[in-house]
Amino acid sequence: MLLIHDGETTADASVPRTGGVPLVPDGFVWPLCRECDGAMQFLAHLPLPFGTVAVFFCQNDPGMCDDWDATGGANAAYLFAGEGLSPAAVPAEGETALGAVTALRPHPEDASAPGPVLGRLGGEPDWIQADETPACPSCTARMAFTAELEEGADFATAANFGSGGRGYVFTCEPCGEAAFLWQC
Ligand SMILES: [Zn+2]
Ligand SMILES: [Zn+2]
Repeated sequence: MLLIHDGETTADASVPRTGGVPLVPDGFVWPLCRECDGAMQFLAHLPLPFGTVAVFFCQNDPGMCDDWDATGGANAAYLFAGEGLSPAAVPAEGETALGAVTALRPHPEDASAPGPVLGRLGGEPDWIQADETPACPSCTARMAFTAELEEGADFATAANFGSGGRGYVFTCEPCGEAAFLWQC
């Protein structure tokens, strides 16, 4: 499925979106960047049939932390199982929010898109560089490609994937793990 730009939505909307506030389980701790210790920016909320993915990456000092790297500690992705998620408490310090909250509407790949394409769910990753499919941190198996995110056309509100880059989300459903990286 393509993910089509579907206009602005509310910060805690349950639809697929970039920006806003993550929906998280009780006891969730907002991720801090391993490199700069700052609070990461919430990037995307992706409800899936087997759980909800939340993606974060460090934007406190863009270009300084390795937020493109799936294992560098400057990004974080979660796969939350089950229902009962609620909006997270957002840290007071740090670059925690994207410039806009943008709804992403799933749309069949074989139909012409009615709006800008901002990503994709499932299928095969469309790598810009080499295949960097991460290994699951729990079981070490190759993780399953789950979603792709484009930066977005509007520079003021777009995700920062190094200008023209693309984000990749992976999951390991049995382990409840998720991972994120970007390339440009
Ligand atoms: Zn950082
Ligand atoms: Zn696993």
